[in-house]
Amino acid sequence: MRKLDFAPTGWARVVLTTLIGTLFCIGVALYVDSFNFPGMTEAELARALAVNILLPGLLAGPLLFFLMNKIRQLAIAQRELAEIASTDSLTAVLNRGAFTMMVDAYLEQSREHANLRSGALLVIDADHFKTINDRYGHQLGDEALKLIAGTIKDTLRGADIVGRVGGEEFGVFLPGATPEQAQSVAERIRQAVFNLKLPLPTWSGEISVSIGGVTYNGLATYDHLFSLADERLYGAKAGGRNRVLFRHVVDPPIAA
Ligand code: GH3
Ligand code: MG
Ligand code: MG
Repeated sequence: MRKLDFAPTGWARVVLTTLIGTLFCIGVALYVDSFNFPGMTEAELARALAVNILLPGLLAGPLLFFLMNKIRQLAIAQRELAEIASTDSLTAVLNRGAFTMMVDAYLEQSREHANLRSGALLVIDADHFKTINDRYGHQLGDEALKLIAGTIKDTLRGADIVGRVGGEEFGVFLPGATPEQAQSVAERIRQAVFNLKLPLPTWSGEISVSIGGVTYNGLATYDHLFSLADERLYGAKAGGRNRVLFRHVVDPPIAA
């Protein structure tokens, strides 16, 4: 059986609130009028009961439904706005602000839950991207960025977080990943991007990414992890690009 969805964006809340609100209004009308019931004839009582039930039912029911539906529509619009505000418009992954916020929130949670105190952060930078733009144009460069983002997303699990943290630079956070798992994910991303072919007859080149990664055990801050991963990325670039370089840290220093 399908579970009822009582979220502010769902119909169940609208229907339930309308029903409860209408019944409440009927109850109030009956209660207020009940002081007049003892002196009434049977016919008057029947009419009074009908009025007490029908009038609030006909007035409050539609009004409450209209109001609750408006609130539902507002909740949907708010959710859509929040989604737009946190999404990178070109690649449809999280933008820098949202990515940082989500990883920060996870790391913050790990202060209270010891089982959340491990994971990995990868910084993925497209190699020689300026040359791709110069040679094939900015529009194709944009297409390449979309393909790279899609390839990264396809490699990840549902709980992993991916964002565009710079022009041709992506961040990936792998909650709970071991050094071996993180290394394997990074290697798969590198290889999958290297296998990409751009949809262009004149395309003869290759796209590649360099990946700097850090895995950690203990408490960590985003800024610290990012600087360590970025350091590794720099090493991967200096080492010839199209490669993955990692570092593992235990109990990285945390901000107070
Ligand atoms: P490296 O291998 O050292 O990373 O070389 P690179 O050319 O990728 O690095 P550099 O920082 O010199 O240049 C980054 C390029 O990425 C230049 C910039 O035009 C391009 N870029 C950044 N954002 C976008 C974008 O949104 N669309 C396109 N098409 N290009 C972008
Ligand atoms: Mg680059
Ligand atoms: Mg860069």
